Amino acid sequence: MGVEKLGEKVMLAVHRENHLIERIGWLRAAVLGANDGLISTASLIVGVAAASPALDQVLVAGVAGLVAGAMSMAAGEYVSVSSQADAEEADMARERRELAEQPEAELEELAKIYESRGVEARLARNVAEQMMAKDAFAAHARDELGIATHTLARPVQAALTSAVTFSTGAAFPLVVTLLSPAGYITWSVSLACLLGLAALGSIGARAGGAAVIRPTLRVVFWGAVAMLATAVVGSLAGRAV
Ligand SMILES: [Zn+2]
Repeated sequence: MGVEKLGEKVMLAVHRENHLIERIGWLRAAVLGANDGLISTASLIVGVAAASPALDQVLVAGVAGLVAGAMSMAAGEYVSVSSQADAEEADMARERRELAEQPEAELEELAKIYESRGVEARLARNVAEQMMAKDAFAAHARDELGIATHTLARPVQAALTSAVTFSTGAAFPLVVTLLSPAGYITWSVSLACLLGLAALGSIGARAGGAAVIRPTLRVVFWGAVAMLATAVVGSLAGRAV
């Protein structure tokens, strides 16, 4: 009874920790997507505004940048997460086959894994036997392959998430462009972008449990470099056309 209660408590703690890890991973990905959307669209707007200050042209470029960026982020994410999912699936299929064909060797293998993690040999074999009696595949997937059902790669979900977060970040400089007084688009978008990057940087750093100031400054600095570079190229192109 006492041991059962303790086991339950440990399980709960592990469970909670897993959720925290998942949330941090998710939040980090969201921050990165928004970061990309913000910096690329703001740079695009600044570049076009430096070449031609006509509001409608700047807006068309900004919207096109948002759509193109969201699509390419989604496609890239889909491809990379799909290949991860394929690899996981192949691993799991091989594991299923091995479990069906040579259960004794698989039991040995699982026991060795627990042993290598510090469990005494006889106990390790005992643990492996009991785990395999309950759900042999789950035990092998988790402890041998490091795959748990709640961490499986999900390509469509990953693609949608990055398209949405990118668009959210990209929408910010577009709104600022609309609200900006005529002739000041370059300045207001640059400033808004740096503020947005600083905010995202501090959220991302806090989510990762890291110090806040340095990563934020780094993100703001490179954002400023990106916008300055596009503004220079934009105004040179504007003069050349
Ligand atoms: Zn195995």
